[in-house]
Amino acid sequence: MKDEYKLQLSNVNKFYKLGNKNTFHALTDINVNFKKGELVSIIGESGSGKSTLMNLIGGLDSDFEGDIIADGVNLRNLNDKELDNYRKNKVGFVFQSFNLIPHLTILDNVTIALTLSNEKESVKIEKATKLLTRLGLEKQLKKKPNQLSGGQKQRVAIARALINEPEIILADEPTGALDSGTTIQILDILKEIADEGKLVIMVTHSEKVAAISSRVVEISDGMIVRDEKNKNYKKAKKKTSEALIEEEPEQKIINKVSKKSTKQNLSLWSALRLSFHNMWASKTKNLLMAFGVSISILAMIIMLSFGSGLTDYISNLAEEYNNPYYVSISKKSEKGQDGNDVMGSPIKPLSFNIKDKDENGKDEVDRLIDQINAELTKNQKEFQIDREQNLSFGFSVMTYGTNTTFSFKCNEEGVYDPEGTLTSSKDIFFIYTTPPYYEKSNMIAGELSGMNEVLLSKAAVKALGFESPEALVESKPKVSINIPALGINTDGISSEELNLTGNPTISGIIDVTNLFEGFPVMYVNYNYFAKLVEYSQELTGKTIPFAPTSIYIKTDDPSTTDFITHYLDSLETYSGAVEQQFAGMFNSMLSTFSIALAVISGISLLVAAIMILVVLYMSVTERTREIGVLKSIGARRKDIKRIFSAESFLIGLLSGIVGIILSLVVSVILIIIFNATLGLAPISFRWWYFVGALGISILISVLSGLYPASKAAKLDPVESLRHE
Ligand code: ADP
Ligand code: MG
Repeated sequence: MKDEYKLQLSNVNKFYKLGNKNTFHALTDINVNFKKGELVSIIGESGSGKSTLMNLIGGLDSDFEGDIIADGVNLRNLNDKELDNYRKNKVGFVFQSFNLIPHLTILDNVTIALTLSNEKESVKIEKATKLLTRLGLEKQLKKKPNQLSGGQKQRVAIARALINEPEIILADEPTGALDSGTTIQILDILKEIADEGKLVIMVTHSEKVAAISSRVVEISDGMIVRDEKNKNYKKAKKKTSEALIEEEPEQKIINKVSKKSTKQNLSLWSALRLSFHNMWASKTKNLLMAFGVSISILAMIIMLSFGSGLTDYISNLAEEYNNPYYVSISKKSEKGQDGNDVMGSPIKPLSFNIKDKDENGKDEVDRLIDQINAELTKNQKEFQIDREQNLSFGFSVMTYGTNTTFSFKCNEEGVYDPEGTLTSSKDIFFIYTTPPYYEKSNMIAGELSGMNEVLLSKAAVKALGFESPEALVESKPKVSINIPALGINTDGISSEELNLTGNPTISGIIDVTNLFEGFPVMYVNYNYFAKLVEYSQELTGKTIPFAPTSIYIKTDDPSTTDFITHYLDSLETYSGAVEQQFAGMFNSMLSTFSIALAVISGISLLVAAIMILVVLYMSVTERTREIGVLKSIGARRKDIKRIFSAESFLIGLLSGIVGIILSLVVSVILIIIFNATLGLAPISFRWWYFVGALGISILISVLSGLYPASKAAKLDPVESLRHE
């Protein structure tokens, strides 16, 4: 009867492929059968083929000729998945070098085989604890392998081999690394297992060890040269073996239920847990890597936040000048003297020509009004622009760098003092004429300006040495305005006729929340400014290049405002207000800037991805042996892939979280620095920057982990176990 054999090998031959088409005949015509309850010693010189044979029996190596029939199944007919299951459920391996997984606890080293079958946590712990307790390791459950002695380690390995209740235990030189006292302990345990009815096949060098077994098979040069039964072999006393293996009926039921109800695979959760343990074991390395990756996440978030912060400021800037009843017009371009187009910009605005009239006696502004009015009529709009009624002029100039200043008398501390003997001068960044729609609500303190008055921006308050805008306005300081480019110096102006009394007073502080709120900006009434220019011209006899740079048209209705604005947008030469041009200019600068930022982020993400790839690749090499062990206890390729992918996922998650925390910290620092220096902080967050950054971090890690994970999955189990 064939069935009485647990394991039958017929005509088994093993050839190792060497380079250049040579082969090495490692096993020759092996014919041998084993029964359950046998404790077989395989002996032979080093290199005789013992390990090769064990690997074939254990399903680690399926490249052989002949038949190996285990429990009625021919290993040659099994596919990869069936072989994995065979290793997981039918055989248990014990190695000379223990091959415990260093970063897992003793308990986890034993339960890992059950984890691969997705066994219930409570069942796993109960089974493993029982087994370890009976092997005398109840006090070591939470320890790591390197905290145990050799004998203890081998007992853990035996527990791991037994946990799935296999029929066959394969032990390749299990006592090779142990002293003689410990050797006896381990042999006793193996003997008990065999006596319980399992088939135990053990490779040994030592005849002494072989002597205690029930049968000795000797291999020489890949051939069986001796096969002897030990007539003196006595079964151990039943009670110890019973204690070691037998389970209570109750527990068997649990096993059956749990085996039925669960998929026999490593669950994602377990993969994550295993990876977490492994990462924890090399915390420093992983934290350093996460830190490295998080820098690119940080860069990405900061760049995005900076971009949106600037965009927000610019749209505020544009919005601030939007009044639904006014159309603001500025010049987009004009023909220069050389015939080429000259583009207007907020820094160098183009002006409207109101001096030269055509044959109909009309200037540029008249012609523009006619053009708009015609368009309004064409579209059945009742509203018509009347130059006298609806139109006003505006002027703006960037004065930065032209020695344009406002000065005031001050004391020795630089604080305004009408009796002061010193003068403090501050650069003016911009001069704007106050738009006609500005109201009291646009003021922080004081009143809108009239003749002989100016408005200053918030930044000027500090520059004048006042503590609050109110305090500044109440003390009505006299300032002198010096605009060399226009020949204006209010110190020299004093004319009753023009209703100018020389130095103007500051009537109010205007609330500008634009990009220049950190700089002194001066607002003046257009008529006042025009008179300053006119008077300066008289004084100096020079013609001053002064002309309106913007036009404001008061409409009857917001829909008319919209209509005219849209019409202007379609024109080549005119556009919205200077302030809107500003927004446009900054937005186009921003989009160039954004592309540059995106490229930088992209490069840093690529560097991060390569870093993850390298680290995971090295990790695969470092853990080759562990992968071999996992395969020997039945891990499928998929499981190995899953463990490594879980690890790259965790790295991505960790890097993302670290990156987000770092970016918050850095943003706070940047906001403080910006506020202190510029008085504004162009950084704004969108919640999805963080979600996106986390997502991208995980995505690049997982993608970078794909190659190392598949490399790990493809490793040959026998070779990995041999890896030093
Ligand atoms: P033992 O375990 O008895 O010491 P092995 O089974 O490990 O011997 O090896 C048997 C023979 O097969 C040795 O000569 C060894 O060099 C050779 N061998 C083992 N593995 C390979 C391999 N992967 N490629 C080529 N030769 C191998
Ligand atoms: Mg060997």
